[in-house]
Amino acid sequence: MNPSHSDVLVLGGGVIGLSCALYLLKAGASVRVLEQGTAGCGSSHGNCGTLTPSHADPLTMPGMIGQALRWMLKRDAPLYVNPKPDPARLRWLLGFARRCNWRDFTSAADARAAILVRSRNLIEELVTNESLDCEFANGGALSVYRDRRAMEADAWHVELLERLGIGVVRKSADEVMDMEPSLLPGVAGGVFHPGDARLRPDRYVGELARRVRELGGIIEEGARIEGFATGASGIDSVDTSRGAFSGDRVVLALGAWSPLLARTLGLTLPMQPGKGYSITWTRPELCPRLPLTLCEASLCVTAWDSGFRLGSTMEFSGYDERLNQRRLGALRRGAARYLRQPEGPELREEWWGWRPMTVDEVPIIGPSARRSNLMLATGHGMMGMSMSAATGELVASLCAGPAPVLDPTPYAPSRFGL
Ligand SMILES: Cc1cc2nc3c(=O)[nH]c(=O)nc-3n(C[C@H](O)[C@H](O)[C@H](O)COP(=O)(O)OP(=O)(O)OC[C@H]3O[C@@H](n4cnc5c(N)ncnc54)[C@H](O)[C@@H]3O)c2cc1C
Repeated sequence: MNPSHSDVLVLGGGVIGLSCALYLLKAGASVRVLEQGTAGCGSSHGNCGTLTPSHADPLTMPGMIGQALRWMLKRDAPLYVNPKPDPARLRWLLGFARRCNWRDFTSAADARAAILVRSRNLIEELVTNESLDCEFANGGALSVYRDRRAMEADAWHVELLERLGIGVVRKSADEVMDMEPSLLPGVAGGVFHPGDARLRPDRYVGELARRVRELGGIIEEGARIEGFATGASGIDSVDTSRGAFSGDRVVLALGAWSPLLARTLGLTLPMQPGKGYSITWTRPELCPRLPLTLCEASLCVTAWDSGFRLGSTMEFSGYDERLNQRRLGALRRGAARYLRQPEGPELREEWWGWRPMTVDEVPIIGPSARRSNLMLATGHGMMGMSMSAATGELVASLCAGPAPVLDPTPYAPSRFGL
């Protein structure tokens, strides 16, 4: 038996790769995860940790392009597109713009709702059954508006969730203030999402990695993937900075880095990195009880016993690794418009991460039609934590297990000829 061979090689040790590994191990496969850094060091580290079936609506909404152009003229806007010409980014933007119509919006919302709801339930099950210590909490999430017109303009969101059967309750300004004394006066109203939940993402991925190892999986940290040896049967081996590894199946779960390595396999993934930022403090005295979306500022606030985090921004500036202080300042200014204590006493971390954004806002999960032993599990965009467990379950079913619970069709790589 070749010691560097496993039934399944998982490329990438973020929440998606680790969830795939866990479900594959439970299905009886031997699994090795290849990760260039440490498990969970990518986008899965400093995100807001909300589990949100309420975010079933994709960004590809009619009118989004006009909104995006207006935002680009505003200094503190939550969206930034680097105007420097870049053919891949331009292609992505055109593809995204083409999908901003009601037909594509509706089918993306249906696909997202199915995986979000399944995953929300599976994550709770995993937390309980695998004893994952990650500050998971049920109890819902609250979207808050300070501007009545903005709230009325978002009425479609409530109608969409009602159509999808995802719990949603409109709240008056007084009700919102009763639920959240951490808010400043002047709230116009809000929307409560009873089915949403939250966890501490770095702890969750740490706990997933622990369970993967306990179940016999191997996580090769510091193994930077550099290329592939391919043959008639697909990928023969994966070359890394720590040597070559092989697997009967190879699951590509490299988050925003996926297109870079897929390109060396002749696959053009329609994805761009969508950079976001977060700031983490110790808890302020008057800390939000629920995860909040501060709607006009497009800002997410999450609190755990261990800390308090603001997160937001969508920056399309390629693989730029700089921590932009202006964007961090925009998070602080945005929160100060809503919260009595928008910052905690002790700053713990200023962070950025690349969201793996697909052109249609639906993840790419399933076997590649072009490389026979390759499975893709990527492109989870703004919702990778929320969609992670159902992705793992689906990949394990498609690789090794019983018939999938989730209909795999909407996520299939074949929709992009991959
Ligand atoms: C500010 C912000 C807030 C967010 N909030 C939420 C939220 O509240 N809820 C939610 O559901 N989602 C949220 N997200 C999105 C979520 O973080 C991502 O969708 C998710 O983490 C993607 O997981 P992943 O495993 O695909 O990618 P990653 O976690 O980025 O993992 C990919 C891994 O591949 C590794 N890798 C890359 N290249 C190589 C290589 N050559 N060799 C070996 N390894 C390699 C990387 O090191 C990395 O660890 C947020 C994102 C941001 C930026």
